[in-house]
Amino acid sequence: MTESARLHTRRVFFALWPPSEVLETLDALADRIAKICGGRRTRRESLHMTLVFVGAVTQEQLDRLLAIGGLIQGGAFAMNIDRLGYWPHNRIAWAGCSEMPSCQRRLYDSLSANLHGQGFQLEKRPFVPHITLARKARCGDLPILEQPIRWSAAEFALVESLPQPAERQYLSLASWPLRTAVDKKICKEC
Ligand code: ATP
Ligand code: MG
Repeated sequence: MTESARLHTRRVFFALWPPSEVLETLDALADRIAKICGGRRTRRESLHMTLVFVGAVTQEQLDRLLAIGGLIQGGAFAMNIDRLGYWPHNRIAWAGCSEMPSCQRRLYDSLSANLHGQGFQLEKRPFVPHITLARKARCGDLPILEQPIRWSAAEFALVESLPQPAERQYLSLASWPLRTAVDKKICKEC
């Protein structure tokens, strides 16, 4: 990448954004966790689940990502957000699923394969789907989620992480529907 291209990069990732009823519940959960663990809770409008983090891209790469998003044939799926977790190394408190739905795994695999095919370098760490609830947290024992949060994912998005200080932290650049499982050929298990 030339110096001028490097200076004109944007930081992007593919993600799922919660539907309004799920957002309501996650918002209350973020409040609750920040009260228990301290730290800085994720703002309501920023609550999301990253699918694939891409990182800094040029305009030309961004165009390719938009094309890839449009090519993906994903099936809709429902997640059961049924557990809370804490990573001491980055002090993140999060919510996630004990089991990843097979359609989510396929969506991740399909995005990753297409991105690799187009020369994007991706994280080698295993994919741990999660929603960051609080940063700079210090958590001991976390509460059990009495009631799992059911999140029906019907679309995914390409999102820009905006440089701070910006009014917003994230900006959705484009989104694509996930087809419902009525078509059993797309995703039998969902
Ligand atoms: P900040 O870095 O300012 O605290 P953030 O982590 O939410 O905020 P980004 O670093 O731009 O913002 O990340 C955007 C999303 O991608 C977040 O969900 C973040 O957890 C995820 N992410 C960032 N870096 C990676 C990475 N190396 N691997 C996987 N996911 C990542
Ligand atoms: Mg970050």
